[in-house]
Amino acid sequence: MRFSGLRVLAEGLTGNRGWTPHWRDPAPKADYDMIIIGGGGHGLSTAYYLAREHGLTNIAVLEKGYLGSGNIGRNTTIVRANYFLPGNSEFYSHSLKLWEGLEVDLNYNVMHSQRGLINLFHSDGQRDAFARRGNAMINQGDDAVLLDRDGVRKLLPYLDFDNTRFPIYGGLLHPRGGTARHDAVAWGYARGADRRGVDLIQNCEVTGIDIENGAVKGVQTTRGAIRAKKVGIVVAGRSGQVAAMAGMRLPIESHVLQAFVTEGLKPVIDHVISFGMGHFYISQSDKGGLVFGGDLDFYASYASRGNLPMVEHVMEAGMTLMPMIGKARVLRSWGGIMDMTPDGSPIIDKTPIDGLYLNCGWCYGGFKAVPGSGFSFAHLMATDTHHAPAARFRLDRFRTGRGLMDEEGTGSQYNLH
Ligand SMILES: Cc1cc2nc3c(=O)[nH]c(=O)nc-3n(C[C@H](O)[C@H](O)[C@H](O)COP(=O)(O)OP(=O)(O)OC[C@H]3O[C@@H](n4cnc5c(N)ncnc54)[C@H](O)[C@@H]3O)c2cc1C
Repeated sequence: MRFSGLRVLAEGLTGNRGWTPHWRDPAPKADYDMIIIGGGGHGLSTAYYLAREHGLTNIAVLEKGYLGSGNIGRNTTIVRANYFLPGNSEFYSHSLKLWEGLEVDLNYNVMHSQRGLINLFHSDGQRDAFARRGNAMINQGDDAVLLDRDGVRKLLPYLDFDNTRFPIYGGLLHPRGGTARHDAVAWGYARGADRRGVDLIQNCEVTGIDIENGAVKGVQTTRGAIRAKKVGIVVAGRSGQVAAMAGMRLPIESHVLQAFVTEGLKPVIDHVISFGMGHFYISQSDKGGLVFGGDLDFYASYASRGNLPMVEHVMEAGMTLMPMIGKARVLRSWGGIMDMTPDGSPIIDKTPIDGLYLNCGWCYGGFKAVPGSGFSFAHLMATDTHHAPAARFRLDRFRTGRGLMDEEGTGSQYNLH
């Protein structure tokens, strides 16, 4: 079933009776070439690119809940390529290019909207740091424009410029940054993988990993044992628990990150804005809700909801930046489990166990990485070689100290991502 404007029109005129399910609901087979554990954004995109780029289709994605029930459907939907450090910079640049062709590639509307992202700065030092970041982005082939205070005021006149505790000095505009509809991204990749023959198996929790003589042989699940030559662990906040099934202890801590959405409002915010003096970022969804978030709750947890002190902190930051937000009513809040690495950068690597691969450590920024991560992880699983843009995301950097990265330039400091 291909989507097209004509098809939507025809279905609309005939009672929408011709649509078919986006993917099958197969029973698990006894044996696959490859198993992907985790039906989130990264697991589904990996399966899709394994099929599309490498012609491998005897693959199962095993998801313990329903597809898209994890962080892929819980994030604040920001897509950007404004990373500074070598290693991250080229990876996110590659990922953004994949985003830009994604809807045509998947034949699916993921509502990718390049509305522009503005990182505000509030001091001379911050301005210098953002100027440096902007130059790094331009050198990488991406876009960046340094705005002064008047430049920001022209684009975002509703911010508090005059009576604020942290005066706005300017902002770094990333015009190709923006948002996408998070769960549509999961659905689009799921549909694309299914169409190529990948089995997407829901309600199938992996409970054990079978290893013999240092090589993976398959997995134990709530729907029985399944054999496979290669297994990829792609379970985000549950990475530590699933890796433990293979006897591995990962340099990952799971923390809660909360998000919030207000009642639907008329269009008011047409960019993505990130506050520079507190962790606060905001955009407006196509339904009109203001979607915003802040920092982690900063205690290790597997709960999908957070605590009130962080809610207060996020609301305070919003009120400081744009007092008008005080008139909006918050409709919902929720949390997701973040797989935090000590240096804030991800892991896409083989493990010491033959045939067992690891994709995790996306911290609070893995939504934008979904296309790039799936592409690079599929490359690694199919060819046993690292894909160039993701070549520095090695697991052993935490043991050897070589190649540690940090997206905020703070160095490798525990819990200072
Ligand atoms: C509130 C919030 C806001 C965020 N905002 C942004 C943002 O604006 N921009 C951005 O780039 N990123 C953002 N992120 C981060 C981003 O959402 C995550 O980094 C990314 O979604 C993680 O990868 P995933 O999609 O594969 O994870 P998930 O969707 O969590 O997928 C992992 C899957 O594995 C499954 N699983 C776990 N254990 C097992 C098992 N034993 N057997 C089978 N299946 C299992 C889970 O059920 C889950 O579906 C945000 C996250 C949150 C929570």
